[in-house]
Amino acid sequence: MKKIQLTYLWADESVLVADFAKQRSRRMAEWANDFYKRYGFEVDVKPAPSEGKVPLAQKYALKKSDGVKPNMFLPRYLSEKYAPLYADVDARIAANQQEKDRLERLLDQVPIADSAGRIVIYEAMHPVGEARDRLRAERDGIERRQAAEEIEGDWSAQFREQMAAKFLADKIGEPDRLGIVFAHFQNEFLRMRVAPDIVIGRTVRETDVPMVRLMPIRLLWPFTYIVIDVKEATLRTLAHEIVHAAGHSHPFSVKVVKNLEQRLKFTPRKLSGTVLDRAITAYQNVIEYEALFKEVPGGEFDGATNDIMNYLAEGAEPSDYVLSDRNKDRLEHAFFVQP
Ligand SMILES: [Zn+2]
Repeated sequence: MKKIQLTYLWADESVLVADFAKQRSRRMAEWANDFYKRYGFEVDVKPAPSEGKVPLAQKYALKKSDGVKPNMFLPRYLSEKYAPLYADVDARIAANQQEKDRLERLLDQVPIADSAGRIVIYEAMHPVGEARDRLRAERDGIERRQAAEEIEGDWSAQFREQMAAKFLADKIGEPDRLGIVFAHFQNEFLRMRVAPDIVIGRTVRETDVPMVRLMPIRLLWPFTYIVIDVKEATLRTLAHEIVHAAGHSHPFSVKVVKNLEQRLKFTPRKLSGTVLDRAITAYQNVIEYEALFKEVPGGEFDGATNDIMNYLAEGAEPSDYVLSDRNKDRLEHAFFVQP
């Protein structure tokens, strides 16, 4: 039997305690073990299940409290959160531009010789230009706030940082073991206009970005690791993510037409009116066109209908699923598998 070597980590001690009460992570390992043993692998977890008491496992918690709560949809969530702010400032920028255009047209009508008349218009232009600078600065400020929130919510880098610190302090998380971080995910995205499907696990690939992050200097754990929402995940999540960690990606999602008749009937509205009117009509055309399609995630056609990687595969038991030859081969060569 080849060993699939895992190191379990918890975002903080409260996540660890909640998990141990329900035995979720232990049962995920058992499930994965039952699944993989049919293919010649056994799952080897640190801390060993015999150490399955909170005090013994405590040092495997990345933090004592206030652990990272990953939000899988942060960029999308933020773009929806900030969209009304951009729309508001952009409308004021457009109005400012119209005023500037109006004054320039007026200026064109005043003869060069009429210097007094021209000065009146120049003076009117001055505050319009100042307002424009303020609006630009306001827009930059919104962009900076959004970028700051994105960095602040960068859970994958925060986990990398904590994993590196854990390794340096306690020698936990050897490079030939796959780190599995159990956490409680944020569900803030459920407030989003278009709520995406819930995500219960994610594999974060090995990084070749510098291991050190400046300001302040921090060491980042560079290896592939998995993060699992231990409250929401099904028992097969761990077995599924292990295949991703071995290098398998789902096929790209595809867009399919929802209703062919509507699609054939679709004609974009003609653009007319001011620049702003035309831009709004063009935008609406795109939105209406996009609404005729729906996106099918690649996981829905990933391998056989009972493949461990196929989103549509069903069943509670490990025996309900199969591992493809290609993925078995990937696993045999994975960095965290030992002969
Ligand atoms: Zn997947």
